[in-house]
Amino acid sequence: MSGSILVVSGPSGSGKTSLAKKLLDIVPDSYFSISTTTRKQRENEENGIDYHFIGKDEFLSEIDEGGFLEWAEVHGNFYGTAFKPIEAALNEGKIVVLDIDVQGHKAIREKFPKLVTSVFITTKNMGVLKERLASRGTETSEILEQRVINAISEMRQISEYDYFFVNDDFNESLKALTAIAIASKFKQSLTDNESFIKHWKI
Ligand code: 5GP
Repeated sequence: MSGSILVVSGPSGSGKTSLAKKLLDIVPDSYFSISTTTRKQRENEENGIDYHFIGKDEFLSEIDEGGFLEWAEVHGNFYGTAFKPIEAALNEGKIVVLDIDVQGHKAIREKFPKLVTSVFITTKNMGVLKERLASRGTETSEILEQRVINAISEMRQISEYDYFFVNDDFNESLKALTAIAIASKFKQSLTDNESFIKHWKI
């Protein structure tokens, strides 16, 4: 495998998904992983583009068959990263961008410690998060409240990440994320030092 993995996490409403998707237009050879979920499809979402929307039974059999690289229960729904497309993208040398939660980050880092660079993105404060979630208009007030509560526990994991920034201004945040994605390609742990030295001596 010659690619690398960029994990992007943060509370829902932080703007991380829009930033991660925009990154694909800027950074060559980047690949956005489309997760599988049992969450209800939102009106503005497309199956196969935003997520692969499936039922709970199908999700559970996918787990049994070992189809997921990682999966987690987030806000009461299941979300998982399919194994095969990630393996293919890594073999093609791509930067695989994973928009996953803190549990997913932990699992992926344990599996691929040398390949992973991670970034946690959040809002300036909880008030801004609430405003953004409310203005999306995609969630009921109960779900919105649950997401805000979950955000607080997710924030406690910031120290597990390589990078962290506040998404206040989209263009500034995109510059920061682009810089992180580019730097991730030059992570020393991606290089097989012995083999490099052997060829370097020729
Ligand atoms: P949403 O329902 O707002 O699209 O996503 C809820 C949360 O689930 C977000 O924090 C998102 O990053 C996370 N998530 C999306 N896909 C995956 C996945 O495949 N694995 C894990 N662990 N988390 C995911």
